[in-house]
Amino acid sequence: MGHISVIGSCNMDLTVEADRRPLAGETVMGKRLIVSPGGKGANQAVAAARLGEEVYMVGCVGRDAYGSLMLDALKKSGVKTDYVSVLDGVDTGTAHIILAEGDNSIIVLKGANDRVSPQVVDEAFDIIRTSDLVMLQHEIPMDTIGYIIDRCYEEKVPVMLNPAPYMDIPKEWIDKVTYITPNEHEAALMFQGMDRDEILKSHAGKVIMTVGSEGVLYGEGNEVVHVPGFHVPVVDTTGAGDTFNGAFAAGRAEGLSIRESIRFANAAAALSVGKIGAQGGMPWRNEVEEMLS
Ligand code: ADP
Repeated sequence: MGHISVIGSCNMDLTVEADRRPLAGETVMGKRLIVSPGGKGANQAVAAARLGEEVYMVGCVGRDAYGSLMLDALKKSGVKTDYVSVLDGVDTGTAHIILAEGDNSIIVLKGANDRVSPQVVDEAFDIIRTSDLVMLQHEIPMDTIGYIIDRCYEEKVPVMLNPAPYMDIPKEWIDKVTYITPNEHEAALMFQGMDRDEILKSHAGKVIMTVGSEGVLYGEGNEVVHVPGFHVPVVDTTGAGDTFNGAFAAGRAEGLSIRESIRFANAAAALSVGKIGAQGGMPWRNEVEEMLS
């Protein structure tokens, strides 16, 4: 069992299904409301914990109903929540999703996620320092991400950065982290002017590029390795990337090779696309082992 710290976002996803989205100034009747825990940080923590790792979530929620739901959801999947701060005077982060005509429109309110400061990190640093792997995404303040990357680099704690949602980042971050896990689109933005092979070969063993149902590409020496995805019927791809990240971290924290960790994570992510919801579809350990056997 590996020890992982995730420093990231906790959001409640509030999804309204409707036949079509309203025009400006218009009201339409919806079909149903789905309230589900999300946020890339919490999702990745849940994915790794369900696979049996000891996972600590470091983040912030508001002292409100959504904050309580979030903590319950994390605990149910086995995530340790001792370092999730419950803050007064700020709302739990929310994502307001309209699902209509086969497409999502989303407004995110960062809420308490914007309060994940270097001080919050310092308070959890004993647990962060002893991690086999620290996981980061782009849904907390960029200054805090930079602070964590610097401190972990100084202390030689491996960091995995999932650069999503995409934002330009300092090149120094790419140099200092152990793994960076963009999807194809994020990789193209991050390494402008380089083709896929150049990106992977010049960051061998560091850039783990997910390519949807095709699986994953990464560099090993001067070779590009393709680890194929699993063919499964697709119900909902929400959370596939988060499941992949949580499971890849789990594999590495347990001491699997990069290639074995990717295969393990491709299986976990494929299982997640067979079910609705981000966390709803995340598999437990026995399901992934069954798929790989
Ligand atoms: P993101 O969801 O972040 O955009 P990708 O679409 O690249 O990232 O998906 C991440 C991983 O999820 C892939 O590397 C693959 O393992 C898995 N995956 C995604 N879509 C599918 C699919 N349709 N079938 C099987 N596996 C999938």
